[in-house]
Amino acid sequence: KQAIWAQLKNTSTVTMDNHYVELVGNIGSPEDVEGVNNNGGEGIGLYRTEFLYMGRKNLPTEEEQFEAYKVVLNNMGDKPVVVRTLDIGGDKELPYMEMDKEMNPFLGNRAIRLCLSKKDIFKTQLRALLRASVYGNLRIMFPMIATMDEFHEAKDMLMESKCELIKEGSRVSDHIEIGIMIEIPAAAILADQFAKEVDFFSIGTNDLIQYTFAADRMNEKVSYLYQPFNPSLLRLIKMVINAAHKEGKWVGMCGEMAGEQLAIPILIGLGLDEFSMSATSILQARHIISKLNYNDMVKLASEVLQMTRDKDVYNRICGVLKEDV
Ligand code: PEP
Ligand code: MG
Repeated sequence: KQAIWAQLKNTSTVTMDNHYVELVGNIGSPEDVEGVNNNGGEGIGLYRTEFLYMGRKNLPTEEEQFEAYKVVLNNMGDKPVVVRTLDIGGDKELPYMEMDKEMNPFLGNRAIRLCLSKKDIFKTQLRALLRASVYGNLRIMFPMIATMDEFHEAKDMLMESKCELIKEGSRVSDHIEIGIMIEIPAAAILADQFAKEVDFFSIGTNDLIQYTFAADRMNEKVSYLYQPFNPSLLRLIKMVINAAHKEGKWVGMCGEMAGEQLAIPILIGLGLDEFSMSATSILQARHIISKLNYNDMVKLASEVLQMTRDKDVYNRICGVLKEDV
C-alpha cells in the first residue's frame, strides 16, 4: 500500500472522471513543512500560529514571527500557505498573558475575539505576516468569525497595517487572499453574505461539530454527540460550499474530518475544493480520491443529505469504500 501511495507523491489529486481537488497539510511550526512536502502536499491549508506563542515566557516579537512565516513561505515556493491568525483561549492558555477565568472558555474570549480585544498583539502578528508576504504565496485566515462586523474589523486592521508598512518603506504583496474559518454555525448560516466579501472559506469541523451539536469536543460523556456524519452537519457544509461557489470562491476544510477516509467520498460529492490534513494522511487521501467517480459522489452526497441519522450515513459510506477502493 505504501508503495502505491508513494507513486502519487508528485501527482495532482484527481478523481477517475477528472474532477480536481487540492490536498494540503496542517502545520503547527516551520519544522512541519518538510513533512508536508515529503508527503506530496500541494500547499499548507492551516498553519496554526498559536504554537509560536506557546511554551515560552513572553509574546513573540514582530521580528521573530516574521522569520517563522518567511521560512514557511520560502520552503513552500509557489505553493499556497494559509496562515491562521492567533487562536488562543478556549483550551489553549498563555502563562504570560492575563486571561479571566471563564465559565465556558470555548464560548468565551478566544481567537479573533481575543485578538480584537488586544489589538496591539493582533497588530504585531498582522505586520509580521504582511512583511513575510513577499516571500511566497500567502493567504491569511481569521479564526472563529461569528459576525460580519468581526470580519470587517479584522480586515480593516490588516489594511491599516499594510498602509503603515508601505509608508515605512516595507514591501507587501498585492496578491494575498483573505479568508475566514467557518467553525461557528452563525457564520455558516450567513455564508452567502460572507462569500461576497472573502476570498475563501475553510471549514473548521473540530469546532463546527462542537458548536452545532452543543457538545464539548473534550468531554467524553457527550462524545456520542460528536457526529461528523450527521446529515445536519453535512447540510451545513453543503450550504457553505454552495454559497461560496455561487460567488466564485473556493472552500477548504481544515478540521480532522477532511482527512477521514470515510468522509472523503461525501466531501468530494459536496464539492469541497481543498482538503487540509496532517501530512501523513495526504497520500492515502489522494489514493482514495483517485478511485472515486465525482458524478457518483454527487449523487451519493444528495442521497445521504436526506438520511436521518449519522449511523445510516456511515453505513452507506462503508459500502462505497468497500466497492471502490
Ligand atoms: C477546527 O476547529 O476544525 C480547527 C481546524 O481549528 P482547531 O482544531 O485549531 O480549533
Ligand atoms: Mg477551531
